[in-house]
Amino acid sequence: MSVLSFDALKTQVAEGLIDTVLVCGVDMQGRLMGKRFTAGHFIASAWQETHCCNYLLATDLEMATPEGFASTSWEAGYGDYVMKPDLTTLRPVPWLEGTAMVMCDLIDHHTHEAVPHSPRAMLKAQIARIEAMGLTPMMATELEFFLFEKSFDEIRKSGYRDLAPISGYNEDYHIFQTTKEEGIMRPIRNHLWAAGIPIENSKGEAEAGQEELNIKYAPALDTADYHTIAKNAIKEIAWQQGHGATFLSKYSHDRVGSSSHVHQSLWKDGKPAFFDPEDKLGMSALMKSYMAGLLKYAPDITYFLAPYINSYKRFQKGTFAPTRITWSVDNRTAGFRLCGESSRAVRVECRIGGSDINPYLAMAAMLAAGIAGIEEGLELAPPAAGDSYAGEGNTIPTTLIRARDALMGSKMLRAAMSDWVVDHYARAAQVEIEDFERVVTDYEIARGFERA
Ligand code: ADP
Repeated sequence: MSVLSFDALKTQVAEGLIDTVLVCGVDMQGRLMGKRFTAGHFIASAWQETHCCNYLLATDLEMATPEGFASTSWEAGYGDYVMKPDLTTLRPVPWLEGTAMVMCDLIDHHTHEAVPHSPRAMLKAQIARIEAMGLTPMMATELEFFLFEKSFDEIRKSGYRDLAPISGYNEDYHIFQTTKEEGIMRPIRNHLWAAGIPIENSKGEAEAGQEELNIKYAPALDTADYHTIAKNAIKEIAWQQGHGATFLSKYSHDRVGSSSHVHQSLWKDGKPAFFDPEDKLGMSALMKSYMAGLLKYAPDITYFLAPYINSYKRFQKGTFAPTRITWSVDNRTAGFRLCGESSRAVRVECRIGGSDINPYLAMAAMLAAGIAGIEEGLELAPPAAGDSYAGEGNTIPTTLIRARDALMGSKMLRAAMSDWVVDHYARAAQVEIEDFERVVTDYEIARGFERA
């Protein structure tokens, strides 16, 4: 959806309203990476393309240069990718003075093809597969996060020890508690709205200092762009106000974690193809096989829903984060929840993803699983009832090592995404595992220093 045409940008630049254009790609971690252009240079030439180092899709959160990626290396000389602005994504950035932004696709300048392991290309590839079946994926991602009393700088200088959340007690749906956070949340909602991102609401979540931002469902690629821009805006606006915000899945084992639930439905010719008024729950045969694919392949895709060591700390019983691969009718203990049953809004909510997902990868993986369910004509088992935490079996992979193994061994993902892409992300998972295995943690010291 275009909210700022290229012509309108030119006019605003001529009027002196915009002087800076952020030209942004998305890295493996789902972060905006790019350059700040003078608006004059952007409209004169950079709108066609710019370049970035190809290590941006072979680095970790620290911007290190781990070895073992086939795509690039010291040996290959860390060359460039083309960043090709997608002008349909031009938008103002109202929380930064005189600024607009645009999302880019990453292109290999030798082959002139999209870089296959770039997150936007991976999601586009799965969207193209489902569109070839005459279906449009409509999705919504929820953003949960914590706000902190102190700024990012103060928190970092304290060695991430001084983690006092911005408010003192559980603020789930709490109007008074969240009124105290309006200094941050109101500009987040309103600035994003003015940037063309259809914010529905924000609400307090089930912990002290925890907020949730909801964005209206949209075609999957727009949803991923919205999520990425909104996450960046939340950090920037919190920073502007002297506060920190975290999207870690589990910042403390004593607190609940943060999720990013993903609502999914498929549409055909502008009508919800998941809805069948004749069915007891209003679920079409298409929806049932799509969901059966999600369930069958949940272990395969878990890495894309939980990409870090920390992500797996969130899967704890009795915390509203799921532990088992079950589906249910409006029951928040299952990995997959049926929402809007018996209505045109019938959809499946995947509850496995943490707030640390890369939304492009998460949605690409879920679409691949759903497509496999449709292609294999899978039958959907009856829904789980009651407390899904209480049951046995069908557990979500409990560690990053298990999820990495399931990714590596997934014939479904290798067929849907290619060996190249799967091997690239399996290496990314391994980088996280190796780094963690090397580091001595506070936990080990406190537990064993004197007592061992
Ligand atoms: P909850 O009870 O989970 O808070 P909401 O009614 O707030 O449910 O909806 C959650 C998200 O689901 C919103 O972002 C909304 O836009 C999205 N949503 C609504 N209908 C659909 C649909 N048909 N397909 C995908 N997402 C949808």
